[in-house]
Amino acid sequence: MCIFCKIVDGDIPSNKVYEDEQILVFKDVNPTAPTHLLVIPKKHIASLDAAEQADLELLGRLQLTAAEIARQQGIAKDGYRLVLNCGEQGGQTVDHLHYHLIGGQMLGWPPFTDVAK
Ligand code: AMP
Repeated sequence: MCIFCKIVDGDIPSNKVYEDEQILVFKDVNPTAPTHLLVIPKKHIASLDAAEQADLELLGRLQLTAAEIARQQGIAKDGYRLVLNCGEQGGQTVDHLHYHLIGGQMLGWPPFTDVAK
């Protein structure tokens, strides 16, 4: 079972911010900004590349939940970033689809310019 599935099941502790039947939001253990949350489906989907047509509504709910949590966290007015890393070169390290909700400071762009080309 993957680490995020274990968090969903409560086998690994997490700092939960929001939970419903399909979605869990918790604090990233290694925050890169004042607000850094992970928005995940409870259903195991390995990555965006593994998502299917049947996941259409769930993917939309994940984004709308992220937007609602951003408002609740007080970062929506100033702005924030919603990031989904997909695959090795995309920087994905946990093979369970997740959005990073990052904000609370001015964010640089483009990201990861230090990585060798
Ligand atoms: P990614 O590199 O896009 O796959 O992001 C994985 C994220 O999961 C990283 O930002 C990690 O800091 C975070 N992470 C890994 N394990 C945990 C955990 N047990 N609790 C909270 N966040 C975690």
